[in-house]
Amino acid sequence: MSILDRARPEIRALTPYSSARMEARGGTVMLNANESPLPNVGPALNRYPEPQPPELLVRLAALYGVSAEQLLIGRGSDEAIDLLVRAFCSAGRDAVLISPPTFGMYAVCARIQNAAVIEAALAADFSLDVPALIAAATPDTKLVFLCSPNNPTGGALAPEAVQTVARAFAGRALVVVDEAYAEFSQAASAIGLLGQHENLAVLRTLSKAHALAGARIGCVLAAPDVIALLRRIQAPYPLPTPCVDAALAALEPAALERTRERIASLLRERERLARALRGAARVRAVLPSQANFVCARFDDGAAVYRTLLAQDIVVRDVGRYPGLRDCLRLSVGTPAENARLIAALGAAEVAA
Ligand code: PMP
Repeated sequence: MSILDRARPEIRALTPYSSARMEARGGTVMLNANESPLPNVGPALNRYPEPQPPELLVRLAALYGVSAEQLLIGRGSDEAIDLLVRAFCSAGRDAVLISPPTFGMYAVCARIQNAAVIEAALAADFSLDVPALIAAATPDTKLVFLCSPNNPTGGALAPEAVQTVARAFAGRALVVVDEAYAEFSQAASAIGLLGQHENLAVLRTLSKAHALAGARIGCVLAAPDVIALLRRIQAPYPLPTPCVDAALAALEPAALERTRERIASLLRERERLARALRGAARVRAVLPSQANFVCARFDDGAAVYRTLLAQDIVVRDVGRYPGLRDCLRLSVGTPAENARLIAALGAAEVAA
């Protein structure tokens, strides 16, 4: 049984919109898309963009080590999550399975689609409880979202855990590993497992390590037939030309080298922040992080949040998540920003 058999039948049967740019491209007299023949503010902006710009597809495929047919580019991984839920979950019947505390968009997209959200909580140490996850699935569970490194706790999954989950759901549900923060982690990516599991998908983004959150470029990596299915329901021209240009620039060799340096610096800063937090009086625990943030439990998280805000420092109060009472998620900033944060917390700098 193919995992496509678990997608919504009406999406598989849909005749997708055929945009002008998909039907014909490259003529010298382009009169097929009701565009303005003359530019306004930018040289190429009077023209609709390619739905999936071939050059960007090739570059991203090379970056992630997959073929272009295994990759869909979207408006951030947020859009990828939405496309997956809409393609696989029939409203009022199907379900997604998540392990809270985790990224909120899986459940939000499911609820917008009127799909059920089944929760199998992370273990007490915030590791994935694989047996509990597998046991929680229902026959109508179509998607299993794993987040590695997990937002907001920061822990990463071993590929063996992903493999176990993918095997358990073979032919039943698509297992989606959200690797938004993978570049900050020591754990091996699940991309290497795609060839072995047709029911596996991986999400990647240029928003975090590549410092392009404003460009909204994210990807789904999956089997070619899953990618083709998602393309059926994606908007006709999802990727604005300036965003595509920014992504191409960020994937030039020199920019990739700068990205590697930025990651190395952020990792050093993450450890500096974690050390300072561990020594701070109001901190009860610092969760080990493989991402570009640190999640810490305070004696009174809401009070610390207000103290920081009063000093113009905005962090994320994640105390409402299950198991994260009094926890704040602190993104790693520049060395100067981190120094301000550490000082505002009354924490001392600790030498490595
Ligand atoms: N996944 C995770 C785990 C995230 O934390 C985020 C952003 N906070 C996203 C996906 C969405 O990222 P983007 O849409 O910018 O690619």
